[in-house]
Amino acid sequence: MLIGKKQLLIGGEWRDASNGQTMPVINPATEDVIAEVASASREDVDAAVAAARAALSGPWGKLSARERGRLVYKLGERLMEQVDEVARLETLHNGKPITESRHIEIPMAAECLLYFAGWADKVGGDTIPVKGTALVYTLREPVGVVAAIVPWNFPLLLAMWKVAPALAMGNTVILKPASQTPLTALALGQLAIDVGFPPGVLNVITGSGGTTGQAIVEHPGIDKIAFTGDTSTGKGIMRTAAETLKHITLELGGKSPNIVFADADLDAAVRGATVGIFYGKGEVCAAGSRLLVDKAIKDQFIGKIAERTRKMVPGDPLDPKTRLGAISSKAQLERVLNYVDIAKREGGSLVAGGSRADIGTGKGYFMQPTVFADVTPAMTIAREEIFGPVLAAIDFVDVDEAIARANDTMYGLAAGVWTRDIKKAHYVASKLQAGTVWVNTYNVYDTAAPFGGYKQSGFGREMGRHAVDYYTQTKTVWVDLS
Ligand code: NAP
Repeated sequence: MLIGKKQLLIGGEWRDASNGQTMPVINPATEDVIAEVASASREDVDAAVAAARAALSGPWGKLSARERGRLVYKLGERLMEQVDEVARLETLHNGKPITESRHIEIPMAAECLLYFAGWADKVGGDTIPVKGTALVYTLREPVGVVAAIVPWNFPLLLAMWKVAPALAMGNTVILKPASQTPLTALALGQLAIDVGFPPGVLNVITGSGGTTGQAIVEHPGIDKIAFTGDTSTGKGIMRTAAETLKHITLELGGKSPNIVFADADLDAAVRGATVGIFYGKGEVCAAGSRLLVDKAIKDQFIGKIAERTRKMVPGDPLDPKTRLGAISSKAQLERVLNYVDIAKREGGSLVAGGSRADIGTGKGYFMQPTVFADVTPAMTIAREEIFGPVLAAIDFVDVDEAIARANDTMYGLAAGVWTRDIKKAHYVASKLQAGTVWVNTYNVYDTAAPFGGYKQSGFGREMGRHAVDYYTQTKTVWVDLS
């Protein structure tokens, strides 16, 4: 399927990059080039910032909070009306199964807009009792121009975790999708025009991280960077953004532990552990990539996991029956296969998968879901984020060792705990250094529940009422009454 040429959305108008440059978009399931998108230059970033600033002090800034909320709500409704088309684009550029795009991720993206639309007119300031004769009150104001920089694994959903609260709180937005997956962000831009957003409120600029992304982070006209991506990229962004002292929120990598105690419902835990690592082909920041298993049940449990994993076969992402799609790019497939080689060399026991897969077309970046047993905490696959369908199983002997091993990582995004003992569940949840802990479930999200990292998985929270705080700033007003 050829989608053709796509332009930048700046100030409500579609235009080519100022230097005419474009970049290809590849379908990872077929290896075909499906689109050419504009590659924004520094001048284009300047133009997007100018448009976003003009909108802030123009019609957008003059809208009442309720009117703003209505527009954000309309955008959510329109996105849901277009769910089939947008989900198809998401699958085409990312390789994820259409069931995931159509029934989970694009509906969640739309719901995120509906949810934050409701907050638009419900965030207010306080009146503060102070010494002396003065009226002191606070105003909650937008931060200003927000740049959302997002990765390729959940392209539209992660964009919406930023765009929805930013718009609802009255900011204007420059959205930069990942180079590999720009199509759904561009589709969103058109929907924003269609539902009547004033020009410049939502700008979508495509281009490489090194040029377009860097120009955004350096730009003095941008007030906040909301970033999701790799931890090392996040550190670089933080360093660069320090020059202009931008607000930032960072949602970064993870190496999340999924802890299975011997007293758990083992069949449920097997399902949870496989969904925890293989949903989204393992290209999930919160993937339960470290399976911590009670030594008492280790062999039985790993046997069940391996059996279930061997039945999971990658397929055509556009087929509604497919549950495992294509790895997002050739480079990512090579990276994952390299980790498999490292794991073998370091002494891990391969119990399922481990190789590239062919779905019968001889094309596409498919990978067998893979499980390694006998992994020790020092091994590379226990420490580094693989971002692919590779599970590393590590054992433990008691609760204290489970907690120590779970926390033995620089990351702290998420964790899972499987047990029938309610006291143990809450105790372990309280000791885990992670922004989200799932008990007897894994990989569940809701727009109302905050999500974000501890440690080097980042800071700031997305979703829920917590997100609202990161898209507003507080002004204190003193009125002398003496
Ligand atoms: P990435 O390389 O850090 O890229 C993320 C985004 O940043 C892309 O749009 C990228 O553009 C851009 N970028 C790259 N270098 C930049 C720079 N110097 N300045 C500004 N922007 C720059 O991450 P990725 O490989 O796409 O995504 C995978 C990572 O994201 C994993 O580590 C994963 O754990 C993390 N992640 C975290 C969460 C979470 O919520 N914590 C969620 C999902 C993913 P290009 O595409 O052009 O390179």
